[in-house]
Parts: sequence; C-alpha cells; structure tokens
Amino acid sequence: MSQPTSFSQNVDQMVERALVILNVDPGIAQAIKTPDSTIKVNFPVEIDDNIEVFSGWRCVHSTHRCPAKGGLRFAPTVNQDEVEALAALMTYKCAIVNVPFGGSKGGLLIDPTRYNRRNMQKITCRFARELIQKGYLSPSLNVPAPDMGTGEREMTWIANTYRLQHPEDINYSACVTGKPVVHEGIQGRKEATGRGVVFAIREFFRHPDEIKRAGLQGALSGKRIILQGLGNVGYHAGNILEEEDGAKIIAVIERDGAVINPRGISTRRLRQHINEHSGVRGYPDANFVADGKAAMEEECDILIPAAMEAQITSDNAPRLNCSLIVEAANGPVTFGADTILQRRGISILPDSYVNAGGVTVSYFEWVRNMSHIRLGRMERRYDELRGEEMVTAIEKMTQKPATPEIHEALARGANELDLVRSGLDDTMRLAFQEIKEARDQYEQIEDFRTAAYIVAIGKIVRSYLDIGIQ
Ligand code: NAD
Repeated sequence: MSQPTSFSQNVDQMVERALVILNVDPGIAQAIKTPDSTIKVNFPVEIDDNIEVFSGWRCVHSTHRCPAKGGLRFAPTVNQDEVEALAALMTYKCAIVNVPFGGSKGGLLIDPTRYNRRNMQKITCRFARELIQKGYLSPSLNVPAPDMGTGEREMTWIANTYRLQHPEDINYSACVTGKPVVHEGIQGRKEATGRGVVFAIREFFRHPDEIKRAGLQGALSGKRIILQGLGNVGYHAGNILEEEDGAKIIAVIERDGAVINPRGISTRRLRQHINEHSGVRGYPDANFVADGKAAMEEECDILIPAAMEAQITSDNAPRLNCSLIVEAANGPVTFGADTILQRRGISILPDSYVNAGGVTVSYFEWVRNMSHIRLGRMERRYDELRGEEMVTAIEKMTQKPATPEIHEALARGANELDLVRSGLDDTMRLAFQEIKEARDQYEQIEDFRTAAYIVAIGKIVRSYLDIGIQ
C-alpha cells in the first residue's frame, strides 16, 4: 500500500500540475516549492508552580516579497510539515490576490483549552520573544496574524511584546495583524476571511457559464449550504450568506457532531449555543447526529469546509452530494480527493483563492499601521461635502427635494469599514477573473485550483527571473 501523502506533499502535488503546464525550469520550480527556512523553538514556561516546555515552529516559505506573512496556529496537532504546507499556501495566496508579501506560517503545539487566560498570555509572549530574537517576527521581515486557536487577544499580546523589545521601532504595531481596532487594528479584519469567502461565491454566481458548469441553477439566494466549522471563518461566511444573501445553512458540522435542518439553521443562535455548551449537541432547532463527518455527504448545493485540512479525502469524495465546494479552510481537500472530485464534475473554489480575504485585509491593516493613519481619515468629510453639493445642485436643477435615502446615498463619505469591504470585494472579484481567464486560456485545465496556481506561479517566476537568483 502506498504511504499516505503529507499536507505539504499534497500542496506540492497540486502546484506541480501548474508548473508542468507552464513548463517552468526545474531549478526554479524547486526553488519556488522549497521553504526558505523553518525554525523550531522549545521554551520553558512556569505554569502554576510547574515548569512546562512548549514547542513551536515558524516557517518562511518565500521572501520574493517582504515582509513574509502568515497566521499563527495554536493547536494540539501542529507539526512542522503542517506549518510548511500552510506557509507555501500563503506564498501562492498572496500572489493570487496581489498582496505584496512572501509566505510564512507558524504554529504552537498546545491545547489552548487547558490553560487560563493568564497562562496563555505568558506562553504567547514567551513564544513571541523567541520568534523576535531569531528574526522571525518584525514589521519588515515577518508578520503573523490569527489562525486556528488564536485571535485578537493573542495578536495584542504579541504586538506589545515586540514593542517592549524594540521601543525604538516606530512601526511596532505593524509587527502583527488581526489586532483589535482599539489597539491599531483595522475595521473589518475579524470578519475578513469569512466575508472574502462570500465575495468569492458572489463573484462565482455572477458568471452564468460557471453556474451551469457546476450543475447549479439561478441565484445564490435559497441555495442549500453545508458548513463544516463554525469558528471565525465559518461563522462569518455562514452568517453573511444566511443574513445578506438569503442562502440556507442546512447543516453545520462541528467537533462533537453535526446539526441538520433542511429549513435552515440560524448561525447566530447556533454560535451562541456553542459558546454556552462547547458544542452543537443539544441545539434545539435541528437534528443532532454524532457522526459529523458523515453529514458532509448530505445533499446540498454548496459545501463549505471551514475547519481544518484533510477533511475531504479519497474515502469520502466519491460520496459527496454537492455541486460546488468552497474551500474556506486551508487544505480541506486532499490531492487524491481533488482528482476524484474533478472526475465527478464537482466544481471547487480553491483555498489559495477563497480564504485570501484574511491576508488581504491584513495587508490593509499593515499599510494603515505603516502609514500611521486610519483609512479614509483625510477624505471622508471632504467626500461628504462634495456629496452635499451634488445633492443641492440636483435639487436646484430638478426643483424637487431629494428623498432622505437619495440624500444619504449621495452625501455619505466612506468610513474605514466601507473602504475595507470595498477593497476586499475588488480584490476577490479581480482574482476570480484572473483565475477564470487562466483556466480558459489553457485547454488542458478544467479546474480553478490549477488555474489559481498558474496565476500565482506566473507572478512568482516573473519575480525570480527579474531579480535573478542571488
Ligand atoms: P477557528 O479555530 O476559529 O475555527 C475552527 C472551527 O472548526 C472551530 O469552531 C472548531 O471547533 C471547528 N473544528 C475543528 N476541527 C473540526 C473537525 N474535525 N470537524 C468539525 N469542526 C471542527 O479557526 P479559523 O480561524 O476559523 O480557521 C479555520 C480554517 O480557516 C483553518 O484551516 C485556517 O487555516 C483557515 N484560515 C483562517 C484564516 C483566518 O483569518 N482566521 C485565514 C485563512 C485561512
């Protein structure tokens, strides 16, 4: 029997298809695929009078653009291969959405549920110090962000640790993104990955040929969606799809099982239930099934894996009953499953594109921190004034007063959240169009994943050739 492939082998195998089609020089192909460096740190922390030793990794996959960028994951399953695979995905992701960063990723081997807030702070700050001292965390070289098991809280602790170590660095707050707004974060970052997922799906639904190709019909409204993982990414994606787009979340799969209701599940109420009961079991408005993974095989229009890698494998791929898979998580479909799903004609919007909303808004946050000014601060009131003048001019010309709605629509200046959402929407739309164009250009390609890698590799190779290997 053949050895199961690792996460990074899975990523490499998928990228390989694009490298072959583009006929990339084997040396450059190897340089692109190989991580620049990976550091492992082991450090002791005193936890309630006992010393515990923790292990963490940070991988810099590429520095063809700087800083290198990527999340920090705190989970009991983290390992070097996973960190390297996720760092590689970051390189391709940044290239696909035209974010001028290299790829990186980090992980700490820990079960965060076992430690209280005070101890988590000690552990996080010590991990950050290790990374800073070794050149793996700074505004110009390597900028982490939230991922599984981390959020605004950890990012605030990390930014403060960096500031204390480098009081002379005026750009200290740009050493990490995903900070709370009151600590130099940006509006809309928390929801960014989920909202980016929605922008990707909306753009897909603007293309009738793609809807038909996937075997779907009509608009996004009313589509039946199964969601795996109701964490940061899954919750925001599901909630926006439900509340803004009128889609129906018919099943949610979590760690302890799945809840199913063909009439739709309120993501807001379910999230509240999870917060209170640490799982979906017992949620009153749906049927509970203990075998969560099997619920992925229920009939639906769109399946959104938003939990973790390797959830759709050669084992369950033949039984999936959906038309479109939207990879909100990183690496949820293995290489073997991808081949099966392609054969079955199931369309896949790939992770390297779909969940790039997080790094896109992280880029906006980094730019905001480096420029030391809130987006829209200079122009918002000016735009408002120009809008007022326009309304007055229209009223004079038509001899009619503008309705309050028209007045509001024309005279309102964009605030930071408006600008972030607009920039994110634009990014996701343009990237989809580039990917679709690449797929249509090469007749050997049928899938969006290979097309997305073609887009990424094309840009990275160009950068290697222009700069040269030094
Ligand atoms: P999270 O920790 O906030 O949420 C993950 C959710 O999935 C949790 O609710 C967890 O209980 C659930 N889960 C974990 N294992 C599961 C399993 N086996 N079956 C069902 N549910 C399971 O993490 P997140 O930040 O939402 O990240 C989710 C995925 O999205 C990861 O693959 C991550 O790498 C990717 N991602 C996250 C971001 C971001 O901005 N947070 C950006 C890009 C990609």
